[in-house]
Amino acid sequence: MKRMIFATGNENKMVEIREILGELPLEILSMKQAGITADIVEDGKTFEENALIKAREVCKIAQEMVMADDSGLEIDYLNGEPGIYSARYMGEDTSYRIKNQNLIDRLEGVPDEKRTARFVCAIAAAFPDGREMVVRGTIEGIIGYEERGENGFGYDPIFYLPDRGMSTAEIPPEEKNSISHRGNALRKMKELLEKEELL
Ligand code: IMP
Repeated sequence: MKRMIFATGNENKMVEIREILGELPLEILSMKQAGITADIVEDGKTFEENALIKAREVCKIAQEMVMADDSGLEIDYLNGEPGIYSARYMGEDTSYRIKNQNLIDRLEGVPDEKRTARFVCAIAAAFPDGREMVVRGTIEGIIGYEERGENGFGYDPIFYLPDRGMSTAEIPPEEKNSISHRGNALRKMKELLEKEELL
């Protein structure tokens, strides 16, 4: 069976990745399992560029097929902020309680129809022979007026799904995986790998 390294240190992501890509004839390894450490500068200007930078760098070191992701929250009223800076917004060590409250405050007085936002996830794949591919998954929602829910992480408590009447921190995790930006991007990548017969 072929091996693929997913360039993340995040174990929660690994669970989701194994769930969605599990049917492929692939042994999926985390960076830790593959024994790889890399200090990568994510200086791309888009989610796609950053995902490609990570996949390419780790592929160079490992000489095996590598996938990597980059994700974040885009708020239309704030011209797409925090975008690719989602993890670094207000500082990497600032709590999400503070980041989320700050975003709610910046949208004070803004009506529902202008509070549109989306989570974006780009997933890139890099192969030792130089081939590369990248896909994007999204989920649309609106920024709420208060934090709600205990599930998920990051900006989930302020990201509302109007047709569910709940935030992504309120819906059960399995349900989130089935509709999330990361789930959608992973399913697209799976289709592409199968179509291009890259496995
Ligand atoms: P990264 O892709 O691990 O660098 O994550 C980027 C940042 O985007 C995270 O630290 C979160 O702040 C935010 N983010 C990405 N996906 C989600 C999500 O599903 N829920 C909440 N926040 C997210």
